[in-house]
Amino acid sequence: TLGWLRQEENQYLSCPPEIAKTLDPELQALIGYSMGSYALGYYTPPLAPGQGPEVVPPEFALGKLDPKDSQFGSEELRQQVGGLQSSMLEASDLPSLKRAVQARLDGLLETVDVYERQRSEHEKQVGERLNTLVERVASLEQAATGMRQHIQEQRNRALRDPLTDLPNRAAWDERLEMEVARQQRYGGQLLLAVLDVDHFKRINDSFGHLAGDRVLKIIANELRKRLRKTDFIARFGGEEFALLLPETPLDAGQRLIESLREGIQNCPFHFKGERTEVTLSGGLAAFVGTERAEQVFERADRALYRAKGAGRNRIEMA
Ligand code: GH3
Ligand code: MG
Ligand code: MG
Repeated sequence: TLGWLRQEENQYLSCPPEIAKTLDPELQALIGYSMGSYALGYYTPPLAPGQGPEVVPPEFALGKLDPKDSQFGSEELRQQVGGLQSSMLEASDLPSLKRAVQARLDGLLETVDVYERQRSEHEKQVGERLNTLVERVASLEQAATGMRQHIQEQRNRALRDPLTDLPNRAAWDERLEMEVARQQRYGGQLLLAVLDVDHFKRINDSFGHLAGDRVLKIIANELRKRLRKTDFIARFGGEEFALLLPETPLDAGQRLIESLREGIQNCPFHFKGERTEVTLSGGLAAFVGTERAEQVFERADRALYRAKGAGRNRIEMA
């Protein structure tokens, strides 16, 4: 049976062995040690019902030493003193009494010496063991920190579009849910816009897929830098971007989306040395009442297709 004890004013307190059992035996002593001034682990043989655990002093728990060793000093001393007493009783004259006492005292001093040596050896071992455990905990903490960082990096990667470095569709879904929940709880205006590059297929067809990729990157940077920190933009699909504008009145949102459209139109794209205009169409919708996010997106998307139908390079309101 494996468990924990805590010594307070010579009283040994236990904590549930089920908990102690889950601990790495190498760490028991250290964890116990940090619990209080004298906390320690103990081993006992399997207990009979109602039988209490056997108490092992801290130096044995910490150093995993054999408890029997400690009996050595006191048992020997008792024997020496007992021997001294009987020698005194047996002695018939003063010289033989002196010899007997001298011999017994030598034995006593030797016993005390051995005992002292053992004790300092124990202390040394306990000290070394504690150092090892402290190092072990430090390295485990370091490993845990590394693991946390790794998980955070993985998560960031999973939510980002590698081409444009914008949040991707998964990140969009997450943020949309959060902004909608916030708006429903605290009120305020929330706008949603969908933007789509006009005739993007032509760019790919005329100048190649890599040129198309470059255009997407430039558009993404241009859009990102024109937005506020609280706004959110994601690459929703191929050449489509979705935006969330919290706390934005409709007229201000409309002006912002118009400025994005103009900004892209004015970007000096050159292909094969020739200036080429790239434009966007968009649809803008406001959240009203308890309308679901998908329905608002649907309205913005339909507005976008109206903008396409009306000649592109324009923003329509849903
Ligand atoms: P519209 O004005 O109606 O939106 O026309 P469009 O050509 O932009 O629309 P369409 O949906 O016909 O074509 C979109 C094109 O975008 C086709 C696809 O190959 C291209 N595309 C999607 N993702 C990427 C990408 O990551 N890189 C590149 N280079 N092209 C992409
Ligand atoms: Mg398009
Ligand atoms: Mg499209």
